[in-house]
Amino acid sequence: MRYEDFYRRSIEEPEAFWGEQARAIHWHREPERILDYSNPPFRQWFAGGETNLCYNAVDRHLDQRGDQLALITVSSETDTAREITYRELHREVNTFAAVLRSLDVGRGDRVVIYMPNMAEAVFAMLACARIGAVHSVVFGGFAAHNLALRIDDATPKLLICADAGMRGGKVIPYKPLVDAACEEASSPPPKVLVVSRGLDPDIALVQGRDVDYAKLRARHDGAQVDVEWLESNEPSYLLYTSGTTGKPKGVQRDVGGYAVALALSMWSIYDVRAGQVMFSTSDVGWAVGHSYNVYGPLIAGATSVLYEGLPTSPDPGIWWRICERYGVRTMFSSPTGIRVLKKQDASWLKKHDLSKLQWLFLAGEPLDEPTAHWITDGIGKTIIDNYWQTETGWPVLALMPGLDMKPVKFGSPGLPTPGYRLRVIDDGTGLDVAPGEKGVLVIEPPLPPGCLTTVWNDDARFLSSYFSHFRELVYSSLDWAIRDEDGYTFILGRTDDVINVAGHRLGTREIEESCATCNSVAEAAVIGVSDDLKGQVPVVFATLKQGGSESPAQAAATMRQRVVEQLGAVARPARVYVVNALPKTRSGKLLRRSLQALAESRDPGDLSTLDDPGALEEVRRALERGA
Ligand code: ATP
Ligand code: MG
Repeated sequence: MRYEDFYRRSIEEPEAFWGEQARAIHWHREPERILDYSNPPFRQWFAGGETNLCYNAVDRHLDQRGDQLALITVSSETDTAREITYRELHREVNTFAAVLRSLDVGRGDRVVIYMPNMAEAVFAMLACARIGAVHSVVFGGFAAHNLALRIDDATPKLLICADAGMRGGKVIPYKPLVDAACEEASSPPPKVLVVSRGLDPDIALVQGRDVDYAKLRARHDGAQVDVEWLESNEPSYLLYTSGTTGKPKGVQRDVGGYAVALALSMWSIYDVRAGQVMFSTSDVGWAVGHSYNVYGPLIAGATSVLYEGLPTSPDPGIWWRICERYGVRTMFSSPTGIRVLKKQDASWLKKHDLSKLQWLFLAGEPLDEPTAHWITDGIGKTIIDNYWQTETGWPVLALMPGLDMKPVKFGSPGLPTPGYRLRVIDDGTGLDVAPGEKGVLVIEPPLPPGCLTTVWNDDARFLSSYFSHFRELVYSSLDWAIRDEDGYTFILGRTDDVINVAGHRLGTREIEESCATCNSVAEAAVIGVSDDLKGQVPVVFATLKQGGSESPAQAAATMRQRVVEQLGAVARPARVYVVNALPKTRSGKLLRRSLQALAESRDPGDLSTLDDPGALEEVRRALERGA
């Protein structure tokens, strides 16, 4: 099938197209209408249909692939691996669902899950889906305060946590964080279910509130729990955005539309079919983890690999060892992850047999060309950049090897995926810009299946965050983009991050890429800082590769010179600061807004998702010292 024909049909005949795609999943009751768009911009896909994510991810495969592996969990932290067939998964999920039922959790109740990348996190998610409870997975690395905020937003009936997580060999007890979060929250969950890995010997259970999973599991082992058939548009889960541009938004996902979109994306974008192996390096707490560690591969009847640990431990070859060992066909990671490896010796990329590996997909942040070339050359595979948001749940821009794949253009995540009517429009006039010109990337509603249905409990925020930027009713991605003559879209950065130097608008990304072409630079973050004369000037914060030959001052001079050569004098960085670490969110995104705030002597804003406070401290010190 040609990409062009497939895509065109999704746009010109959306109901026929999605009606066909819907056949890829099991419906307990057929939809009455493929699309109900009577209340724009809210829309309902597959209205009146009844289905269930857990049934589609697990039960449905028992007959044909009960003995095939469904889930492989590898932990370099605990030095363990676990292989779970569909039949075993079915048993574990039923048992977990029976435990949830025994704790009085039912359809529509919210359940907060606070666990690292371990098998029980997947069991818990699927068990919620089975009984129609709405899960809200909170990334295990978040502090008590973050957890408390999410508890208050979701008002859960139950919180499920692990006794502890681990990072870089260090045990991080979760339970004390849960206790503190419950203390801080105004609507703490009445019950806390603790899944112990035996990592925290000092764990203390609160009488009357905390229950030990192992005990309940033994009691309910082997139980069968009926699937709760949900109307297609009932909520399946809540998930928060990364908080890169401000306070995280609670994305609400549906059931039927999500399942159909994932089924489509698995074969057409990720080129993974039943029986094949997909390895995503994400944490289950992120959008990628939800869609491509849990629901997508399982709905497709594939095998999903879940990894707990650093990309560099026990050594920087761990990801490739996993690919070799389990015969991974498609791997999914992030530019940030690859940049971590790039600081290490490239020979680590060559030590393993990657003959089964076909594709490496990267998403989450702009993929700079030097990094793309480095990894392409290093593993000798096709690297596919794909662009999406927590909100969309699956790619908006990608290349589609499951159809006839169009050629890669470095720097671009490619072409629109089925159902996405994309435009690039001028932020002032709201009119479409010409090919090659910069504008805001927007999606023409109705949003396709899989995208958020609203912001949890806050329709007003849904409208104001995404639909209120232009006179026309369009979904703003809040990203800045260029579309070329061939329809390839290039993402230039966040609309907040545009730098205006004496009337010239520059994308932070263009300057960052230029800096990254310097040999000694590992990563660069560029922000616009207010300037009396020019309005704004670009300021660079950069980290250097280990063992490079240039001093920080030399590297700064090289970056300045490179930017001027490549982008012109107007883009010349006014100041370059070399630091040891850049402030990032826990999901690995550069917190440019905080860098900018510090550089302009303002408050750094919402830091609830900041990864390493030390990185921000270092930036403060660098600013005090001067460039
Ligand atoms: P918040 O919405 O809370 O500010 P966030 O936007 O970082 O946080 P996510 O949903 O995790 O939350 O990230 C989506 C954003 O990541 C996109 O809007 C875009 O800015 C960026 N992004 C994702 N993939 C790509 C890509 N392939 N190329 C460029 N940018 C990307
Ligand atoms: Mg966002």
